[in-house]
Amino acid sequence: MKYQSTRDRSTRVTAAQAIVQGISHEGGLFVPETLPVMTAEELQALVGLSYNEKAKAVLSRFLTDFTPDEIAHCIDGAYNVRNFDTPGISQISRVGELSYLLELWHGPTCAFKDMALQLLPYLMKVSMDKEAPGTEVVVLVATSGDTGKAALEGFAGVPGTRMLVFYPENGVSGMQKLQMVTQTGDNVSVCAIKGNFDDAQSGVKAIFTDPVIEAELEKNGQMFSSANSINWGRLVPQIVYYVAAYTSLIEQEEIAFGDVVNVAVPTGNFGNILAAYYAKKMGVPIGKLICASNRNNVLTDFIRTGCYNRNRDFYTTTSPSMDILISSNLERLLFHLSGEDDQAVREWFAALAQKGSYTVPSQIMEKLQAEFWGGFCDDEAAAATIHEQFDRYGYLCDPHTAVAVKVYEDYVKETGDNTRTIIASTASPYKFCGSVLPAVTDAPVPADPFEQMELLRQVSGMNPPASLAELKGKPVRFTGSIEKSQMVEKVKEMLR
Ligand SMILES: *Cc1c(COP(=O)(O)O)cnc(C)c1O
Repeated sequence: MKYQSTRDRSTRVTAAQAIVQGISHEGGLFVPETLPVMTAEELQALVGLSYNEKAKAVLSRFLTDFTPDEIAHCIDGAYNVRNFDTPGISQISRVGELSYLLELWHGPTCAFKDMALQLLPYLMKVSMDKEAPGTEVVVLVATSGDTGKAALEGFAGVPGTRMLVFYPENGVSGMQKLQMVTQTGDNVSVCAIKGNFDDAQSGVKAIFTDPVIEAELEKNGQMFSSANSINWGRLVPQIVYYVAAYTSLIEQEEIAFGDVVNVAVPTGNFGNILAAYYAKKMGVPIGKLICASNRNNVLTDFIRTGCYNRNRDFYTTTSPSMDILISSNLERLLFHLSGEDDQAVREWFAALAQKGSYTVPSQIMEKLQAEFWGGFCDDEAAAATIHEQFDRYGYLCDPHTAVAVKVYEDYVKETGDNTRTIIASTASPYKFCGSVLPAVTDAPVPADPFEQMELLRQVSGMNPPASLAELKGKPVRFTGSIEKSQMVEKVKEMLR
């Protein structure tokens, strides 16, 4: 199977090339030229298998230039009980009448990003050996908090790779920041910028497509790649857990084979929910895709009106990993919904870059609304939802997951649709103690992140993940911050 660019259909690359490059030269994103379909029998055959076996079945459809041994090596290296604190890798359980929380945060950094970023370094290594042996890959990352740490954890110490992570100085939680600035590993570094996530993401995208820097890299025997969800190697592992979740519900006798389920996802860069869309297109019986945003509700407006407009205030919320006004992966969806119209995609994204907005024609909007429903909730409603879930079910959710739970509830109220629904639970509540605590206790919230953790442990009776507790006393390696205009200089410095 080959991959094409959303901005130039004539581009054709292998999966390994798509993973190595991260982004196409003209700025487009790589998508499969045809989506593989699993028949009902093939899907049914996955029932009862381990997560890794399900992952192998899905990935082998997309990474056709990888041998079965290579795929097995990557998957078994990433998904195991050394890296994940549950043998099932992800976990799904019913919370409420008709909804299931799919916990995707049992990896080393306690957010769903680990599901992809534990695997990506393996995929990258195999891809490099195929496409550019001997070249050093320089991975640049823009993070709204969780990607950065997950990428660092995945790539630290991986031979032939170097990584630089940019994060918004005031845009991440205390725990997220601590996770990143204490990261060890000679080949990785971290840099705070004075700006928000969109600034970091735009800066990184501009550096990727800068011909001068690219020439310099080539001279040094290096090349850029991306660990953000613009990289196909980030997205494809995420399709797996929707296939795995559906088959797990059958194993748990919650649904019968063929029953349709909806999926609700707390959304920022549109990677996670796009993976659910791909799972649906592959043949998993998924109905509505419920796209949940926080107060930065640019996607809600887009799904409801067809107009994407980033010219609006940017809010810092209690769900920082969704504080995004430019959702990169929407580009892939629009490419598919427009019948692979690369010219239209170029025009929309040129308009987004130039004036900050674009509007899609009504036929595309109808297709969009047939598949997706958009809603949003603010910090107060998210906190009330954390409280309610804890009170009613003894279930403690993080603020991102709470946004999805609330929007799911709004969806049911508005539509009366009582289809069983998988809600993506994207982070451990312990990553966001400062916002979770006030929702579940009247006790004053201590300033120290480890005292917060201890208080949450007392209130919830649930132990904090070991990887977070272990941060206590770790030396801080990265301090200070730079202007966003200095990002290029910072990258050049690292390359020297
Ligand atoms: C990254 C992230 C999201 C948003 O996911 P996208 O794939 O960017 O839409 C939601 N919740 C958490 C905890 C995250 O880390």
